[in-house]
Amino acid sequence: MSGSMNHQWILKRRPVGEIADGDLVFKESPIPTPAEGEVLVRTTYLSLDPTNRIWMSDMDQYMEPMRVGDPMRSIAMGEVVSSRSARFKTGDVVMTLGSWSEFFTAPATSLSVPPKIPGVELPAIFGVFYLMGPTAYIGLIGLGAPKIGETLVVSAAAGAVGSLVGQIGKALGCRVVGIAGNRNKCDWVVDSLGFDAAINYKSEDVETALRKHCPAGVDIYFDNVGGEILDTVMGQMNLFGRIVECGLISMYNATGALPGPRNYPRILMKRLKVQGFIASDSMAQFPESYRALTHLHAAGKLKWRLHEVQGLESAASAVKLLYDGGNNGKLLVKVI
Ligand code: NDP
Repeated sequence: MSGSMNHQWILKRRPVGEIADGDLVFKESPIPTPAEGEVLVRTTYLSLDPTNRIWMSDMDQYMEPMRVGDPMRSIAMGEVVSSRSARFKTGDVVMTLGSWSEFFTAPATSLSVPPKIPGVELPAIFGVFYLMGPTAYIGLIGLGAPKIGETLVVSAAAGAVGSLVGQIGKALGCRVVGIAGNRNKCDWVVDSLGFDAAINYKSEDVETALRKHCPAGVDIYFDNVGGEILDTVMGQMNLFGRIVECGLISMYNATGALPGPRNYPRILMKRLKVQGFIASDSMAQFPESYRALTHLHAAGKLKWRLHEVQGLESAASAVKLLYDGGNNGKLLVKVI
């Protein structure tokens, strides 16, 4: 790619169902100039997230949907290459909501500085600690309210958020059962992360496996997937159980009307608390999350996998890995 031009992925049309070739197009354009109070950032890493598919759609959502013709929105890390703000100087490393672009401008007020975590390299600070850590920590502690001895079930268990949730749950004394889409992921969460059990939802009957691995029922379900799995776990929730509604990835590519949960009556009969949340609503709690996760990491109780793909050109094909389960850990694009 040329050094004097910008390259970026543009939303050409909204996907129908799965993201298809041609929904995003790779374009060359002039490098933008920052306005007063803004900085120009050269992207080093992009975070690929299930929510990318939500942003591409015009469904009712938690942020403004992207407009067709916009650069693909993304959580990004990069280096300031020029600054028109007293708060940042050339060379500073920043993280923010950017785009699938080599260069982008952003208001200085929107930028975060990576937290310093002893022994952790920048890609993991960006990919694991910056947003995924607070999502797991705030969701589990704040909404799941775990107590020693309770049973916690987490779906997308080997993914960026799910793998952290399970480890935090173990550190707090819960019995933790993960649900994931292949044997390798199930083995990893049990053998390397210390989960008590894992269920392969593609090859096992989830209801039967839950009865086996959660003999005392389920107290907390940290839901990352929605759909059939949510419904099945809901059917085994205990009295006063909590469902933390973090994500619905099995529904993001849906085209027709979504089925409702058959086990909805259980919310009343078992007096369940079901609450959705968006981590960025709770940014004031991020420093507390970083401190807690840093302690866990220092104690050897927090592990992760980064799944890095190389080059901005790869972003549009790589994002599809999230929806077919092809990612092994936090999915990042290394841009330079
Ligand atoms: P992951 O790293 O977990 O990757 C996504 C995983 O989802 C895939 O690897 C796949 O794993 C699983 N998956 C994909 N399709 C399905 C399906 N149809 N049924 C079941 N599982 C499926 O991603 P993240 O950790 O970044 O995100 C996990 C969830 O958390 C998402 O729903 C996301 O939207 C949500 N999220 C919410 C936030 C918030 O603030 N509320 C913030 C960040 C994420 P497998 O091989 O196991 O199927």
